[in-house]
Amino acid sequence: MRHLVTGGAGFIGSHLVDRLLEANQEVICLDNYFTGRKSNISNHIDNPLFELIRHDVTDPIQLEIDQIWHLACPASPIHYQLNPIKTSKTSFLGTYNMLGLARRLRAKILLASTSEVYGNPEVHPQPESYKGAVNPIGIRSCYNEGKRIAESLCFDYQRMHGVSIRLARIFNTYGPRMIPDDGRVISNFITQALRGDQITIYGDGSQIRSFCYVDDMVEGLIKLMNCNYNGPINIGNTEEFTILELANIIKNKINPNIRFVKKSLPQDDPHQRRPLINLAIEKLNWKPKIDLNTGLDKTIHYFKSTKKQ
Ligand code: NAD
Ligand code: UDP
Repeated sequence: MRHLVTGGAGFIGSHLVDRLLEANQEVICLDNYFTGRKSNISNHIDNPLFELIRHDVTDPIQLEIDQIWHLACPASPIHYQLNPIKTSKTSFLGTYNMLGLARRLRAKILLASTSEVYGNPEVHPQPESYKGAVNPIGIRSCYNEGKRIAESLCFDYQRMHGVSIRLARIFNTYGPRMIPDDGRVISNFITQALRGDQITIYGDGSQIRSFCYVDDMVEGLIKLMNCNYNGPINIGNTEEFTILELANIIKNKINPNIRFVKKSLPQDDPHQRRPLINLAIEKLNWKPKIDLNTGLDKTIHYFKSTKKQ
């Protein structure tokens, strides 16, 4: 089996590449290194099962592969808002090109979609049947509307051309290989606390999130690719925390003397988000195993070790 992982040099993509290679599968990793790093996959360079291609998914590409894991897209708000037009192009053209490839090769394709398709949800927790409350013209729209058109394209390729699709609605995921200060809450808080800087709380910190450790996420994606279900599936952790609670947990693990500083809440920042994962439990026999406490320890260990280098 030969796999194409787009965005394979990124945070989740590189962990997926590790897992596929561990299972002795052939892997082509494709990335434009916008937010991905060669160092995330450099340990595989000499592996004959591994190939690395610098390519932008907004341009078509011809390859011979059996399965496509389509993860290429910046995920952190500061990254996807840097060039929002490019983010929309990546979501639409990138997914269109990968679906065209899947159609030609009769390859199965998994789209890394997102809980952002639910927008600022009025329903809590969110089931897959919830249609979402999305602002189509805000600063997050390039990403959440981008992923919505990507999902829509997947279903049209399935209906029109019989392409075999898998659709993962990924909820907040964290772990080693996140970029320090990439704007995401866990990487921001850990790097701030390790430096002795104030922890930046946006708004009053009452917003709710749930955090999935990356190993659990990759396990869920692999189970999804291998199952027969082709509707959207939420993959995420169901333990919920306010941002203030998260800040206190990280502060107490790293430096109890650290202070908090309040900053304004970004536009359209969802007030609450937590997945209902009944479908993942039923269809994939998957649920997360790693709790926040354990996952944070592993992530803090990673950030400490990269700081020393
Ligand atoms: P990431 O930014 O670390 O990885 C994205 C990868 O895609 C990077 O390696 C980047 O260089 C590459 N990329 C971006 N645009 C590209 C383009 N036009 N052509 C080729 N490569 C391109 O982010 P991540 O957290 O690993 O997210 C991976 C996927 O999972 C994304 O599609 C994201 O939307 C989705 N997702 C992630 C989360 C999360 O919490 N991490 C939540 C929901 C959805
Ligand atoms: N957040 C925060 N301080 C930070 C970074 C993020 O308070 O330094 C908040 C942010 O406003 C949001 C939550 O943490 O409410 C999660 O943010 P992240 O960017 O990680 O993910 P998303 O908003 O996409 O869930």
